[in-house]
Amino acid sequence: KHTLDMNKIRADFPILQRKINGKPLVYFDNAATSQTPQQVIDAIVHYYSDYNANIHRGVHSLSQIATDAYEQAREKIRSHFNAEHVHEIIFTAGTTHAINLVAHGYSQLLNEQDEVIVSAMEHHSNIVPWQMMCEKTGAKLKVIPMTENGELELDTFDQLLNDNTKLVFVNHVSNALGTINPIEEIIEKTHAVGAKVLIDGAQAAPHIKADVQALDIDYYTVSAHKMCGPTGVGVLYGKQELLEALPPYQGGGEMIAEVDFEKTTYAGLPHKFEAGTPNISGGIAFGVALDYMNKIGFDAIADYEMELLVYATNQLNEVGDVRIYGTAVEQKTAVISFNIEGIHSYDIGTLLDKMGIAVRTGHHCAQPIMKFYKIPGTVRASFSFYNTKEEIDAFIEAVKKAKSMLL
Ligand code: PMP
Repeated sequence: KHTLDMNKIRADFPILQRKINGKPLVYFDNAATSQTPQQVIDAIVHYYSDYNANIHRGVHSLSQIATDAYEQAREKIRSHFNAEHVHEIIFTAGTTHAINLVAHGYSQLLNEQDEVIVSAMEHHSNIVPWQMMCEKTGAKLKVIPMTENGELELDTFDQLLNDNTKLVFVNHVSNALGTINPIEEIIEKTHAVGAKVLIDGAQAAPHIKADVQALDIDYYTVSAHKMCGPTGVGVLYGKQELLEALPPYQGGGEMIAEVDFEKTTYAGLPHKFEAGTPNISGGIAFGVALDYMNKIGFDAIADYEMELLVYATNQLNEVGDVRIYGTAVEQKTAVISFNIEGIHSYDIGTLLDKMGIAVRTGHHCAQPIMKFYKIPGTVRASFSFYNTKEEIDAFIEAVKKAKSMLL
């Protein structure tokens, strides 16, 4: 069993010292975006104060320093996810950009005979780009249904797969429910019919270290801002042969080999997918965020977050009239998506904010899940390794108070 030095960890996050509405901030909206440790903030400040320069094209020293730092970050990301090659790591603006990049490529590869499969449990960013792709190509979109427990129906998935299936896209972890999906099984079944799989790792990556080679993942997407890094940067991992076959997304500088008005040829990986000046400080800071989390250790983080999840779940169940959506704690990351009978999630969220507690309310960009449960939304409390049991106590007290005020 691992133990975390909570005083030391919390001291790394300046924002945790602040007050909201006169109360100490209790930040339980980690699934939307995580907070940023001083080490990551310092990396951004260091970049702009010491070596701000454009990368990959300058012969001058600053450009070389910036390029080296950016490419070192790419290597850290490769190593973290155990990709075989560093050029399989494509910097993007985040998961949304990464999925659009792949979907755009497939819009030039598929036709009306082809089928693709999504799950009922996706964030809108893993639905809408594919619908756009299907509109362009005529490919058919099928949906893996979910159960009342917030789990995917894998038996039905078997029936959806066939020789026409080209791609399956599911999230590793659901942002609205926290369900950890059985991606090993999904990948195996998908590969058995010769199709490829894109795993949206946005919610998994802050909690679970995915090994893309061991899992045989074709495409994996992450957002730095959910794992202690800055906003506006993320990664698409793709297997080399798939990325080589995928048409480029945006055209522009840095992604070309040779430009001629008759014909332009594209650069090799990863540059083919990295048109324009990227978020240089963001990429570098993402590397620092991964170092930070790895120093604490993903096993220690998982153990501790499970402790928080069990503690909070048990206490919340005692409040009464509470419905928690989704699967058992053992199959979730540290997310509790709930409602109190007869009260709108927005009203609870608003009262909690008055008491300094930040939670998410609403549909969480996953309207199909809300439609499945026939609700407008939920209250979502999502925990990180820098949260504490004392904060959960304050949260439970606040929920009780909100309930008594609203019922
Ligand atoms: N997929 C999932 C599962 C998410 O939780 C999110 C962020 N809420 C996204 C995709 C989109 O990520 P981003 O907004 O960083 O592009």
